[in-house]
Amino acid sequence: MLRRAGPSLRHFLLERKSGAGYSSYSGEAKMSRPVQARRLEGIDKNIWVELVKLAATYSTVNLGQGFPDFPPPDFLTEAAVRALSGENHALHQYTRAFGHPPLVKVLAQFFGKLLERELDPMTNVMVTVGAYQALFCCFQAFVDEGDEVIIIEPFFDCYEPMVKMAGGLPVFVPLRPKAPKDGKLMSSADWQLDPAELASKFTEQTKAIVLNSPNNPLGKVFSRGELELIADLCVKHDVLCISDEVYEWLVYDGKEHVRIASLRGMWDRTVIIGSAGKTFSVTGWKVGWTVGPNRLLQHIRTVHQNSVYHCATVAQEAVAQGFQRELELYGKPESYFIQLSKELQKKRDWLVQSLDAVGMKPIVPEGTYFLVADISQFKSDVPDVPDSDEPYDSRFVKWMVKNKGLATIPLSSFYCRAHKNNYNHFIRFCFAKEDATLKAANDILQKWKQEKTSP
Ligand code: PMP
Repeated sequence: MLRRAGPSLRHFLLERKSGAGYSSYSGEAKMSRPVQARRLEGIDKNIWVELVKLAATYSTVNLGQGFPDFPPPDFLTEAAVRALSGENHALHQYTRAFGHPPLVKVLAQFFGKLLERELDPMTNVMVTVGAYQALFCCFQAFVDEGDEVIIIEPFFDCYEPMVKMAGGLPVFVPLRPKAPKDGKLMSSADWQLDPAELASKFTEQTKAIVLNSPNNPLGKVFSRGELELIADLCVKHDVLCISDEVYEWLVYDGKEHVRIASLRGMWDRTVIIGSAGKTFSVTGWKVGWTVGPNRLLQHIRTVHQNSVYHCATVAQEAVAQGFQRELELYGKPESYFIQLSKELQKKRDWLVQSLDAVGMKPIVPEGTYFLVADISQFKSDVPDVPDSDEPYDSRFVKWMVKNKGLATIPLSSFYCRAHKNNYNHFIRFCFAKEDATLKAANDILQKWKQEKTSP
C-alpha cells in the first residue's frame, strides 16, 4: 500500500483551524486590496437594471423593456415540449459546443438561401446564448487594446461597455434627424448618417463598425444606399462589420431588409448576428447565432469555447424545428415571419395613431417592435431639475412610471455619456404587446391629456 509522505490532510486542516503556522491568518481578515478589474471601471452602472426594477414596482402597463407579452407560436412551444418530454433523452445532455447539429444545419440552409451562398453548418454558423453573447464574443475576438470601434447612435446600449471591456475605444457617429415634410409625421428614415461625418470617423485605428439594422431604438431600416456607403468605407479602410440583425423579420410597409454581408466585398469582413428571441417571440430562451466566414468565426469559437462553451440543448432543438418549418413555408402567407410582421405592423399603426392623438409625436418606425416619441408637449407636467446630471427624458420616464403607471425607456439611454443630452426629449415604447396592453397604455395617456386640458 502506498503511504503519503508528510502530514495527513486531517492534520493539515486541524493546524489551519487552530492558526498554527499562520502567524497573520485570521478567519475574520478582510481583504484590503482593490478587487475590481480595471476593465470594469465606468461600466458598472446600467440604467436597465434600475428601469426594469421601477417598472416591476410601479407600472400597471409596461411598454418598456423589449419583449412580447403575447405567446410564442404553437409550433415552437410544441417543439419544445417534444424536446423536453419526448423519447430522445439525449436532448437533456450536452450537444455540440458550437451549436446543436440540427440547428446549425438549418441555419446554414436558411441563411445560405438568403445570402445566395453555400454555407457550411460547422464553420459558417455558431450558436450563442442569445445575440448578447454573440456580440460579446465578437468584441472579445476582434478588438485589441486601443482599437477603435465605430458605433452609430442611438445604439443598443451594451455595445459601448462590451467594446471597452475588450480594451477598445468606442467612436460614436450620430444618426441626425431631418425635419419631415410639412404636415407629415417623422419617420425613422428621416434619421440619417452624414456621409462626410461618417467617413471622418474611419482612421488607421478603426478595427470594426457595429451596424444594427433594423435599429433599436428608432426602428430605422437602413436603405441599400446607406448600407453601400458603410460597406464602401469598410472596404476602403479594411474594417470589420459586426452586423446586429436581430430584428431582421420585423420590417413594415413592404420595406426590404438588406443584409450588408450581401454587398460587394462585405461577406469576408462581416459577422451577422441573429436571435431566436426576436425571431420567434421567445426572448427568455436566449438562443442566438453568428453567421459569417470561417476566418472570422474561428476566433468567435475560441472565445465561446473559453467562456460559455455550450448552450441549452432543448432550446436549440426546438428553435431548429421552428426554422425547419419556416424554411418549408418561406415566402408563404402561413410563414410565422410574415404573420408576425403583419400583426406588429397593425400594432405599430395603432400606437402611432394613439400617441399622435394625445400629442406625443411618434417617429414612425420602419422596423423592429419599438417606437420613439417626442415628449415635448408633456414637459410642463414633469418638473425639470436645473443643472441635474440626469438627462430630462430619464427623469420623465421615472416620473411617468411612478405617477401614471406607464413604463417606457428614455432615448438618452441609447447614447454615450457625452451625448446623452443631445436628444433628451424622446422616449421609447415597445409595441410587441397584446392589444389590451396597448389599449391600457392609450387609456392612461388619454386621461393624462384630459387632465392637462381641463381647467
Ligand atoms: N441586439 C439588439 C439590437 C437587441 O435589441 C437585443 C435585445 N434587446 C439583443 C441584441 C440581444 O438579444 P438576445 O435577447 O437574443 O440576447
